[in-house]
Amino acid sequence: MSAPEAHFDIAVFAGDGIGPEVMRAALAVLDAVQRRTGGFVLRLEHLEGGAAAYRDRGIALSDEALKRAQAADAILFGAMGLPDVRYPDGTEIAPQLELRFALELYAGVRPIRAVPGAGQALAAERAREIDLVIVRESTEGLFAARGKGIVEDDRVASDTMVITRAGCERLFDFSFRLARRRKARGRPGIVTCVDKSNVLQSMAFFRRIFDETAPRFADVAPQHHYVDATALDLVRRPWEFDVMVMENMYGDILSDLGAALIGGMGMAPSADIGDRHAVFQPSHGSAPDIAGRGIANPVAMLKSAAMMLDWLGERHDENACVTAATRIDAAVDAVLAAGAVRPCDLGGHADTAAFTRAVIEAL
Ligand code: NAD
Repeated sequence: MSAPEAHFDIAVFAGDGIGPEVMRAALAVLDAVQRRTGGFVLRLEHLEGGAAAYRDRGIALSDEALKRAQAADAILFGAMGLPDVRYPDGTEIAPQLELRFALELYAGVRPIRAVPGAGQALAAERAREIDLVIVRESTEGLFAARGKGIVEDDRVASDTMVITRAGCERLFDFSFRLARRRKARGRPGIVTCVDKSNVLQSMAFFRRIFDETAPRFADVAPQHHYVDATALDLVRRPWEFDVMVMENMYGDILSDLGAALIGGMGMAPSADIGDRHAVFQPSHGSAPDIAGRGIANPVAMLKSAAMMLDWLGERHDENACVTAATRIDAAVDAVLAAGAVRPCDLGGHADTAAFTRAVIEAL
């Protein structure tokens, strides 16, 4: 008798702009991979949220949707936000940030890995070796000021950076464990603490806690790098980095730089991980400039869906999920390497649907 299939409840937020377009691609690939791999079943629940929901109904993310998402085993997310839909204070609707704070998704995991055939920003031969992960703290840092900034007498504006000991400890623990897991798969086992401890008290505190954590992971090498020099070296020698950990705002900026190194926003997946919940979404936004044309590159979304399966598999000891994750990654990489079906943002002519069909065939 074969083992019973594992069931996982997945909360799905397609969101705004190209969100629903890349989500359609991810759900088609997930459906195909679970049929072909067997051993697990994903039960999807589609939930509403985003800038369009706020514009049309006045609520960006309802309490009910948040509750449903919280009850799910994992959350799959397209993109949310539209530049011209804003709160009265001038900031944008961004339920993805609310989810990170509400569900304590402290580790924003952003893998930056060069894929043959995807095109790279750097001409250097070694650019093919780029394989790093940015771990962006996602519940505090400068983003903790969101909704709390002050403008005094129309003369001075301030937003405050918040760094806590507890927030740092769990973040660094996560980063060192990630480097250890990657080392077991052949990566060098280095964690680089990216900060601005030469100028800011909060950043000196951040670095101090990093240094306190490092000795507990003797098999992983700790390094320090100032954030400005990191921007330089991410362009000059990105292949030398492994795991890079940083506060929220620095991670926000440097992960876009990282995406540019490997072909652009359409290529960069991400996961926001906490101790109990996790959201998987491409690093990109709703891309209003190309939305509605069916030409978005779904790779970032597909690789985020693969990260979700990998996380579920590791967490619930379900090998079939880990296998399915590997299969999605391999299929995407194979289609890109073959080169006949290339997404538009990489200079090809394949629309979202055509690229998705090619991935399903390659699975
Ligand atoms: P963006 O990531 O949406 O787009 C930046 C550039 O990358 C655009 O030229 C876009 O066309 C391109 N791009 C992005 N994803 C692509 C894909 N899959 N295929 C091909 N090209 C792609 O960033 P933005 O323009 O700064 O923001 C647009 C909106 O998205 C804003 O409202 C912003 O607040 C929101 N946003 C949301 C998230 C999220 O949901 N996590 C993240 C970033 C931005």
